[in-house]
Amino acid sequence: MATKKTADLSGWLPKLRGSAADQKARAAEDAAQRRAAGKAANSIILTAKDVQGEYDAHRALMTTMGGQVRPLTHSDLATFRHNVRLMQGRYKGGIRARQVLELSMPDDRARANEQIRFAVPVAAHGSQVRFMTNAGPDSDVTHHHVIVDFLSYSSAASGARGDGMKSAAWLRREPLRVECDCGRWRYWFRYIATIGKFNAGRDETGYPKIRNPNLHGVACKHILRVMAEVESSTSIQNFLSRLIDKARARDDNRVNVQMSQDEAKKLSGKPDAHVRDVETTMRARQRARDRAAAKRASKAEATLQPKKAAASSRRSSRLAAETLGAQFNLSPEQVMAILAQAKPQ
Ligand SMILES: [Zn+2]
Repeated sequence: MATKKTADLSGWLPKLRGSAADQKARAAEDAAQRRAAGKAANSIILTAKDVQGEYDAHRALMTTMGGQVRPLTHSDLATFRHNVRLMQGRYKGGIRARQVLELSMPDDRARANEQIRFAVPVAAHGSQVRFMTNAGPDSDVTHHHVIVDFLSYSSAASGARGDGMKSAAWLRREPLRVECDCGRWRYWFRYIATIGKFNAGRDETGYPKIRNPNLHGVACKHILRVMAEVESSTSIQNFLSRLIDKARARDDNRVNVQMSQDEAKKLSGKPDAHVRDVETTMRARQRARDRAAAKRASKAEATLQPKKAAASSRRSSRLAAETLGAQFNLSPEQVMAILAQAKPQ
């Protein structure tokens, strides 16, 4: 049975005008629902205080720790605290696009490959770039908004990294923060991103005791598609370069860049054959990094060799000068001085 669901993706991209308001409305609804869930009398949110050990067993919360749904125990909380500390130690603030791809779950990568074919940068406000992706075949919406906060944006805009394109090439490999408006991000990954310091949106303080008690993976299929594009697509580099150039022209980093409907349409309608495979992108980038490392290593070796050659050629010319000097009754230094004068200017 074929697992690949092919859907007609033409027309997934809505009008860009008004799409920022759409994203804000979704974020506000998410925040309101979360507030209500936290305040409810029979709230099932496992808060930071609970994880710390103040959990009251009479609440009879459940977990899937160990693979089965069962009541939560205090020993689970100790495991959760351990998981949180591990996660906190792994990230220093932000995460690189390639780390998101590498640390993601294989299932999410497969879904990103098969179902999420397009990610278009539609607007930037300083360091924050909003992407839109198509939605999966079982979704009740046609698109999702993914926010990427490029943490080194101000540094890239400073001019120390060369022209706009060079600075953009550097910027997209630097740490970033992310957010998506889908359910998987909300219930599986927003908590991980919050404690891992790479969440670009609303903080999530409730431990995912049912959906993701082991804190596996880092991002949903929409974010993975966006990360694959950030890693390797020229259109993203062009977009970031436009943003950087505009900031320099205005002498102000807080500038906005909007993609036009026509530009976005072009990017969202590229033929299937041109859509990158997420796994291939990961492997290609790894090969490029290996090649660059090998090049650096051989360059370092090459700079050592000429020194050796120079030393040995100095020795042999000294020997020649001594031989010549003996013939003409001159010191080797006198021979060298005469030769130096004879050299064309
Ligand atoms: Zn998502």
